[in-house]
Amino acid sequence: MKRIAKANLAELLSAMAAEAKLYVPAESDGIVNFVSWQEGLAVELAALNVLVPPKKFFYPQTETVLKYEMGEDLQIEDFACKAGEKAILFAVRPCDVSSFAMMDKVYLEEPPDEAYRRRRENTTVIALGCTEPDEACFCQSFDIDAAKAPGADVLAVDTGEELALVAQTEKGEELISALNGLLSEATSGDENKVKDEQEKIADRYVTSVSLRGIKERLAGMFAADYWERLYKRCIGCGTCTFLCPTCHCFDLQEYAAGNCGERIRCWDACMFADFTQMAGGHNPRPSQKERVRQRFMHKLNYFPQQHGDYACVGCGRCVRKCPVNLDILEVIREAGGGTDGL
Ligand code: SF4
Ligand code: SF4
Repeated sequence: MKRIAKANLAELLSAMAAEAKLYVPAESDGIVNFVSWQEGLAVELAALNVLVPPKKFFYPQTETVLKYEMGEDLQIEDFACKAGEKAILFAVRPCDVSSFAMMDKVYLEEPPDEAYRRRRENTTVIALGCTEPDEACFCQSFDIDAAKAPGADVLAVDTGEELALVAQTEKGEELISALNGLLSEATSGDENKVKDEQEKIADRYVTSVSLRGIKERLAGMFAADYWERLYKRCIGCGTCTFLCPTCHCFDLQEYAAGNCGERIRCWDACMFADFTQMAGGHNPRPSQKERVRQRFMHKLNYFPQQHGDYACVGCGRCVRKCPVNLDILEVIREAGGGTDGL
């Protein structure tokens, strides 16, 4: 374990930025998001997860997939093989680190998505362990250890005046050794402080739900009246899906002009009416009822059936941001998951 005084954080970040493109959480107009680091930028370490989840670094909101030109020969410029500049994400919260594992199940399954694979491979993830979950955080219900983030390359723990840094993968060890000149060896006192911080969090959750049997209960609720009651509040804005770190649906759009064309991939959302609209006009999810049901069924029943894990990490974004307070906690409780009442 290494440590560095928080007063020297700018120096550390500057050294990281010399290694790779560095992204850090920063506040602007009251909203915290990951932005590209530059000298003098105030890094926001106190905020919980950023507004737009870091999935955008592996799976951008909009990206060119290919460009083509038709002449005597068809020329295709493939953008996937250009993706993946060396990057470091600093201070990713553990729920978001867990979301990368869900995205990997989708985008790294054979055949893998080449652009996604290259970005994942070339990015070093530094997690920042949590100490103070808010009332919308319920990652603990998904057995996520918010103090440890085992999927990160490096774990950072805020111990007050200092940050403790622990490499958790080979990539993490490489980064720590590149920064070694700025870091001190942690003492056993530092290690105890980190352990203390990590132990405290379990008692600080204010929200928790039980997921016991939820997959099976939802399987029997496909035709339930519940969806009829629930959907009427949804305005189909798509906020819940765009801000969800595990939602991964996209649309492919073709723009052609003369002999040339471009194929663009952009995030899409099952909450939008045209998501399942077919060219002939038929829509298998004709009303918001089917769309709302699909979102929750997918997260808590279909995805676990296919991949063995829930497609939710309890980050709380949909709880905080849905304009009509229609969130996944409500559905878990209604489907019988209940509240443990921490
Ligand atoms: S954020 Fe709320 S209102 Fe908007 S689509 Fe999602 S559930 Fe519906
Ligand atoms: S469903 Fe809601 S709480 Fe779960 S990961 Fe998505 S945004 Fe976070």
